[in-house]
Amino acid sequence: MSLLKVEPGQKIKLAEVDPAGTASLTKDAAKAVLAQNVKRMAKLQEVLYAEGKHTLLIVLQAMDAGGKDGTIRSIMSGVNPQGVTVTSFKAPTAEELAHDFLWRVHQAVPARGMIGIFNRSHYEDVLIVRVKNLVPKKVWQTRYQHINNFEQLLVDSGITLLKFYLHISKEEQKERLQARLDEPDKRWKFNPGDLAERARWDDYMHAFEDVFEKCSTKAAPWYIVPADKKWYRNAVISETIVKTMESLEMKYPEPVAGLDKIAIE
Ligand code: ATP
Ligand code: MG
Repeated sequence: MSLLKVEPGQKIKLAEVDPAGTASLTKDAAKAVLAQNVKRMAKLQEVLYAEGKHTLLIVLQAMDAGGKDGTIRSIMSGVNPQGVTVTSFKAPTAEELAHDFLWRVHQAVPARGMIGIFNRSHYEDVLIVRVKNLVPKKVWQTRYQHINNFEQLLVDSGITLLKFYLHISKEEQKERLQARLDEPDKRWKFNPGDLAERARWDDYMHAFEDVFEKCSTKAAPWYIVPADKKWYRNAVISETIVKTMESLEMKYPEPVAGLDKIAIE
């Protein structure tokens, strides 16, 4: 399986990364990988919770219809809902805008023992905000460094950060948006505003490339996931999460002393 881990400072040309890549994994094999990882994750999440030492924070970014929701649904299908928080970041409210851009994000960072998922994130503040000139350039330009400092703080506090960019082609987005128009059960998802973002596709790709170059750090790397094929996307993301959780070498806490002498009447 292949997904691209961006090295610090690495310049990525998204046009050169195949969104339909599957690294010759078959659909059946990929589904088996996901099923196995869903089970492993259930077990790992239990230890994460019991130990209460680490936090796993998964950041998902993509263009509209890029598959963030589907990824969360598939990959988290086995874990205990009590151990997971999902935060979807929408356009900021008036209250959020009255604070610094990381204020709402920091509040959503989960506690030790938890898995947190960000469906969109603080990266919107250097993506849509930049592409649509929502703040002056001199403001958004400073944010990459603020983001790196913020993420370093999280990592220093025992948080493991995984950042995934779901890379779909413009053609695949067209098909998925068209399906939202054509299929009655999907119409509720259609947002005419998505077409305005689609029209700025190239600007978004450029903004993403800058994010990868500036904000993929040793502490908190970015992964670029070929995501035209949902089954491939799910297999590689679940594999990365499981490998990362295993590397934490988590343990159940020691039981209280003397349990072997307890007799329950
Ligand atoms: P779906 O895939 O179901 O459409 P979504 O994540 O696109 O889900 P929406 O409510 O459609 O959810 O869109 C949220 C919108 O909020 C996105 O267009 C996103 O770019 C925008 N947004 C998020 N954070 C910010 C921010 N900090 N500033 C401005 N806009 C933001
Ligand atoms: Mg949307």
